[in-house]
Amino acid sequence: MPYFDHNATAPLHPAARAAWLEAADRFWQNPSSLFRMATAARDLLADCRERLADLLGCNDPGRIVFTSGATAANNLLGRHLSTSAPPDAVALLSPIEHPAVDASIRAAFPGRAHETGVDAEGVVAPEELSRALDTARDRPIAVVSIMAASNESGVLQPWFDLASLCRDRHIPFHTDAAQWLGKLPASGLAACDWLTGSGHKFGGPRGIGFLVVPSHARFRGDLGGPQEQGQHAGTENLPGIAGMVAALEARERSLVDIAVRGAAMRDAAIERLRERVPAGIVVSGNAERLWNTLAILIPGADSRKLVATLDRADIEASTGSACSSGAASAARVVAAIAPSLGLAPGAPAGMVRFSAGPDTTAADWQAAVDALAEAVVMSAGASRPPRVDLR
Ligand code: PLP
Repeated sequence: MPYFDHNATAPLHPAARAAWLEAADRFWQNPSSLFRMATAARDLLADCRERLADLLGCNDPGRIVFTSGATAANNLLGRHLSTSAPPDAVALLSPIEHPAVDASIRAAFPGRAHETGVDAEGVVAPEELSRALDTARDRPIAVVSIMAASNESGVLQPWFDLASLCRDRHIPFHTDAAQWLGKLPASGLAACDWLTGSGHKFGGPRGIGFLVVPSHARFRGDLGGPQEQGQHAGTENLPGIAGMVAALEARERSLVDIAVRGAAMRDAAIERLRERVPAGIVVSGNAERLWNTLAILIPGADSRKLVATLDRADIEASTGSACSSGAASAARVVAAIAPSLGLAPGAPAGMVRFSAGPDTTAADWQAAVDALAEAVVMSAGASRPPRVDLR
């Protein structure tokens, strides 16, 4: 059954499973305990931190704080900023952030979180960020948060340039790379002051992620034990950490091949879509996007009905983000770029998101587009009143 919901969660990579089992069986002791076997667990923890740092191009593994996922990492960032930033400080974020960033930053900066503009495709251009920084200049800017790749449309942000721009102005930059990691090379992401990742998005176990924090920051995460160099309380999930790092290493080894092949298949699917679903609008279709993601708007359709019809045709797709506010999150992305989509303001439109994985085939993509074409015909038919001959 073709699975097109990898942006929600990806199946466990065999390398992650093996690493998880080994850590759970052999290194189950608490890394903070003092006896010899705990030293082995502590060593594995240090080894995982170093390997992850290598993948991210980070020369200080101490910057990595393991968390229970990307949501937890983003919350940790928000909590830290809410206690450390000056009371009049502001934050800047893009209007298409995942709710885990959007809500955390807004809670940390009540009434002081401002949105940057995006272009017609949902991209925050460096010039746009520069303008937003100029506008906010009269107040301290505690953080700029712009995601690396969108979970909804797959649109890529020029995070490296945005991070450089912020560095030049001594403003901390955060990127949520939960969707970038495992799909595009991780190397260089540590150039961002703050960085969020999540294991289960790229074949690691669920419930494990990380936050990269600035070197030498007096980072105070939360209340509790002094784990993670005093930055994040709670016993480390060592099997999860080992599984996540093994999954990312495995993905990185074949990333370029997967990305090139995946983009070609996605583009062929778009060609087929143009023939079979001419009313479909590819979200952020003119921008650089993740090779695995294809979000399509169907004017007048209902997202949930389309996805249910696809499911009956054995295609597992999504209406957008899998979080509880998924519909709202997709709607925000669409609202941010509405004028470029040719949709009348407020006009109903259904969104279907296909997010492929490394094993998705061209035949899977073809089946997905064909099933969507059928679903669109059925949904149009359903909105017409049944014809009854009363003569
Ligand atoms: N950030 C982004 C960009 C995401 O796509 C997601 C999941 O959809 C999250 C954060 C939340 O990740 P987690 O499930 O690890 O909390």
